[in-house]
Amino acid sequence: MGDKTLVVIDDDDLVGQLVVEAAQQVGFSASAVQDFEALKLVVDASEPDVMVLDLVLPNVDGIQVLRFLADRGCKAKIWLLSGFDPKVVQTAERLGVSLGLTIVGALNKPVSVTTLKDELRKHLRESGDFTVHDLEQAITDDHLFVHYQPKVRLAGDRTGDSGGDLLTLTVDDAPYEVMGFEALARWRNPHGAMVSPVKFIPVAEHSRMIEPLTQSVFRQVIEALAHWKSRGVRLNVAVNISPSTLADLDLPDRLAEKAYAVGVSPDQMILEITENSAVTEDPHFMDVLSRFRLKGFGLSLDDFGTGFSSLIQIYRMPFTELKIDRSFVSEMDQNDEAFTIVRSIIDLGHNLGMRVCAEGVETLSAANRLIELGCDYAQGFYFSRPVGLPDIMRRIGTASALDGTRRIS
Ligand code: C2E
Ligand code: MG
Ligand code: MG
Repeated sequence: MGDKTLVVIDDDDLVGQLVVEAAQQVGFSASAVQDFEALKLVVDASEPDVMVLDLVLPNVDGIQVLRFLADRGCKAKIWLLSGFDPKVVQTAERLGVSLGLTIVGALNKPVSVTTLKDELRKHLRESGDFTVHDLEQAITDDHLFVHYQPKVRLAGDRTGDSGGDLLTLTVDDAPYEVMGFEALARWRNPHGAMVSPVKFIPVAEHSRMIEPLTQSVFRQVIEALAHWKSRGVRLNVAVNISPSTLADLDLPDRLAEKAYAVGVSPDQMILEITENSAVTEDPHFMDVLSRFRLKGFGLSLDDFGTGFSSLIQIYRMPFTELKIDRSFVSEMDQNDEAFTIVRSIIDLGHNLGMRVCAEGVETLSAANRLIELGCDYAQGFYFSRPVGLPDIMRRIGTASALDGTRRIS
């Protein structure tokens, strides 16, 4: 995950720099060393993902270097670099493999930058991974998209807070009102593989790309809400917000203005903040959360039950909803303790005047037990996986002919 590192060892500084530049252009974090001592330091201090080794170095030969790496249990993918006759390189390659190293190939000097870049890109593709650079590029080019997972109403007045026409979802012959969706960021890396947000969100957070990412998700959500509105469907969408974004004091104003600009009301949006991050008494945090509420946004405490919030902290924060972490919900069928935790969170939320949503509902029996416990909303694969916008639009569109009730299944 994240930034891949590459180290090149070559006594010729020019070759080292050439490899470093090629690697950086592909998205590696790359560095060059010129002798064996420096290489030892690098290998002992970090575990490079990829190494490019010159087989001929002053005072040491490539074979000794390979032995050293094998002794250190080096897991890097290694390219050998040599101006020698290919046979010598092949022998070194075979020896490296027999020592347990991952020798992926040999590059002949003079090194072709194009070949090197192609090889490195191939490496990234095969590992199904990405670099910070890939992610930054995708965010800048607005290539991230959003999937929507329906959130259904389990209890209460069916005409509830969604206002307009009802959108229903039928599972095992039972209709459920869709009160809204959770927006989940999706990304296909440059090699075509889907990358989980569990992997790329932390990287975006650390590389300061989370703000443009959040803006992009937000813009797409507002456009979707405006589009649904034009079809006579008023729904809510929940957007996940990273804690670092909440340090931005102008955020509530900017997001509200964007929503109003396309005729969407902030009360159609719920901001989800994970419990671990949310429960801090930082005055900025409270300031931003309170102003979000004042502007009409809903606030949901996500993954509830996994953090360390105290009752007094939850009581002080202006949350409108608790989302029970899916680790409890998915276990509640088989595990009495998990069931008790789910029941207690529902009671706690209700006693503090909040709505409660269970996430990770995968079975009919979990859905039924949540209904018995009076849980307000549920989300999970049992009802629907997260789906793309065209899918939802198609379902809304084809369903509009049905008896005033729009069905999405
Ligand atoms: P989350 O906010 O708790 O989102 C719920 C996650 O549970 C989603 O994973 C969803 O696909 C998954 N899920 C829903 N129902 C079920 C189920 O029945 N069974 C199982 N096993 N899983 C289910 P996803 O889409 O991989 O997202 C993971 C996390 O990434 C999210 O957890 C959220 O914390 C973060 N994330 C996603 N999109 C964004 C975003 O736009 N911004 C930020 N800051 N974080 C995001
Ligand atoms: Mg969430
Ligand atoms: Mg969650």
